[in-house]
Amino acid sequence: MPIFNDIKEILTGLAITFSHMLKKPVTIQYPEEKRPMPPRFRGSIVLTRDPDGGERCVACYLCSGACPVDCISMAAAEDPSGRRYAAWFRINFSRCILCGLCAEACPTLAIQMSSEMFPCKRELMDMVYEKEDLLIDGTGKDAEYNFYRHSGIGVANPRGGNRDEQPPVDARSLLP
Ligand code: SF4
Ligand code: SF4
Repeated sequence: MPIFNDIKEILTGLAITFSHMLKKPVTIQYPEEKRPMPPRFRGSIVLTRDPDGGERCVACYLCSGACPVDCISMAAAEDPSGRRYAAWFRINFSRCILCGLCAEACPTLAIQMSSEMFPCKRELMDMVYEKEDLLIDGTGKDAEYNFYRHSGIGVANPRGGNRDEQPPVDARSLLP
């Protein structure tokens, strides 16, 4: 009879409700308490170092160009050996959507997603992270990768004078 089915459904619902009333609450007092996240969780961004301890970032602006919300900015500089680096590097985490496109675009593996959860802040300006805040001592994933072992500095001859290398194009010669 339909009436017995209805009563059974109501009692089933009440039983579920009462069973949850007897369980321990699962409220976590974030940010004081942090729950363990799955290993593949991506909650923040770091700048990594190469195996020799040098900064991997060559300030190529690719991550900045790939970022859909324009929250990465930097300025490029060169050290006396010609090695490029970021004079400053800034991420505005108040705009970051943790999409990972910056890490995908990075040719040097400098910028990587981290499984750390980004900390809550009350002030927006506290969510602007500088290079000093982002740079870690480790290599992150692919510990052996060193961009400068493949390219960057240390070419023996001027540009165009190395093996299998074409002479550089004079952009002015392309003008109409
Ligand atoms: S994770 Fe996405 S939104 Fe955040 S800095 Fe990288 S590209 Fe921009
Ligand atoms: S983090 Fe990577 S993509 Fe971004 S500027 Fe540095 S080297 Fe280029």
